[in-house]
Amino acid sequence: MTDTVTDAGYDSMRARLVDYLRLHVGMEQISERVLQAIGNVPRHLFVRERDREFAYNDYPISIGHGQTISAPHIVAIMCTLMDVKAGMRILEIGAGSGYHAAVLAELTGERGTVYSVERIPELMKFAQQNLSNAGYRNVVVTTGDGTLGLPEHAPYDRIVVACAAPAIPEPLTDQLKHGGRMTIPIGGRVQELYMIRKNEVISKEKIGAVVFVPLIGKYGF
Ligand code: SAH
Repeated sequence: MTDTVTDAGYDSMRARLVDYLRLHVGMEQISERVLQAIGNVPRHLFVRERDREFAYNDYPISIGHGQTISAPHIVAIMCTLMDVKAGMRILEIGAGSGYHAAVLAELTGERGTVYSVERIPELMKFAQQNLSNAGYRNVVVTTGDGTLGLPEHAPYDRIVVACAAPAIPEPLTDQLKHGGRMTIPIGGRVQELYMIRKNEVISKEKIGAVVFVPLIGKYGF
């Protein structure tokens, strides 16, 4: 272990990150429950070893293969929009480091499950390893084209797309439960984050501008 920071050091960095999010992003966009979940997830175990000391700063960090772990505030905002209740079945597209899945796992609890699909096999292994090191047993990471969803465990209460899509992939709305919610960034270099609600009709609410890596696949770029 080449770590120069102690566990107590990471704990206090994490507490400072939570305070920062509470003060600077604000409670309209981030719920107290989500802040607690962020406060429980050891984010330094979801970046490469050399980047651990930066893990509690509010910006994205490279995880290799041209991909990034999203900034904490964006994870917090998306998780708040998802309004996750204990026991829910959640699908994430784009596991990356596994961090966002870990925050969702905190929110759905032991009775719920998070399924996460990752296109790049090396990152699927990275996410699995990180989640296992951090002690999460209710997250299942698989490799494949997430634009097709994961029909074998559908329907889902919530779907989170962690990469930018040209449009909403139809398999994802098909695999969303009635009464379910999905968050997805749509657009080119800069995207709009949308919250989708599936009831008798599918409604789309624009949340704000975001920048994600592209969703690559059959119903992606
Ligand atoms: N949620 C991640 C960050 C995701 S970055 C975290 O918390 O660290 C977006 C990820 O989506 C990348 O790892 C990229 O490889 C993946 N991706 C892109 N297109 C995909 C697809 N069609 N299916 C599954 N994963 C995809």
